[in-house]
Parts: sequence; structure tokens; C-alpha cells
Amino acid sequence: MSRPRLAPLLPVSWYTARMWVIVHALSGMALGSLLATRSLWEIAFWALALHVVLDLIPHWDYTRLPRRVRWGTVDAGLSIVSLVLARAVFCLDWGIVVAGIVSALPDLELLDTLFGLRRRRLFPSHRPWFPHGSCGPLPGVMVQATIVIASLLLLVLV
Ligand SMILES: [Zn+2]
Repeated sequence: MSRPRLAPLLPVSWYTARMWVIVHALSGMALGSLLATRSLWEIAFWALALHVVLDLIPHWDYTRLPRRVRWGTVDAGLSIVSLVLARAVFCLDWGIVVAGIVSALPDLELLDTLFGLRRRRLFPSHRPWFPHGSCGPLPGVMVQATIVIASLLLLVLV
């Protein structure tokens, strides 16, 4: 099996793996389902805290692959579809949907990475001093798949 090719646009020193947006959206919704009795502000606060915690966990993403724009589009598209389905089809509470949106939102500032650019990061877990977790493709995808499955189970069971 060949290793994924690295895109030449991003210097390695700029690179930290991003947890996939769909992972943040689904885990945020799962957290929102656990905090259903809390206020929207409180849910939003914990959704942001969850984003920070997940960014600590070693993971892998597609932002160094040649087709990263395509992967990013699929990732963002799946996230939006899952949030819309959660509200429109499964009629989940607004608190759950808001938690999913808020948890995924900080990664908007990373969109420039897809185009080989890098602006100053504002969100704490995207700052250079933050111990952002990263690892190889197989364990990095497995850990995110595990979080997705656990989040879906929580959404179904709670
Ligand atoms: Zn992030």
C-alpha cells in the first residue's frame, strides 16, 4: 500500500492535523443530547470545550492530500446534511443541533489550509502552542470513526 502523497503547498511546520468536521458535528450533537436540560449558552460553551478536547486526541486528516478541497467539500457537506437531517427529519431538539453547529464552527478558520494558505488562528486549540494531536492515517481515521460511532450510538440511545 502506498503512502498518501503530500501536497507541496503546505510547509510541514504549518501542519497540524484537523479533526474532521463531521466528527466535531456528530460528537457535538451527542453532547447536546446529554445536556438537553441546560440552556443554549451552556450547551454552546461545552460544545466548544468538546472541540478543544477532541483536538488533543491524536488524529489524521486530509489537508495534505492533493485532493484536499474535494475531501473538505465532502466533509463539510456531510456535516451540513447531518445537522439538517437531525432537525428536519429526526426532529432533534434545537439544543442538540446548536451543539453540533457550535462544536464544528471553529474549524471554519481552517478553510484556508485547503488552499495552501495560513492565517493567524484565533481558536485556542488551533494556536501554535496548543498540543494538537496528530498521528498516521490508519490510527488517525480509526480514532475518528470510533468517535463517530460512539456519538451516533449516544444520539440513538439517549
Ligand atoms: Zn479544531
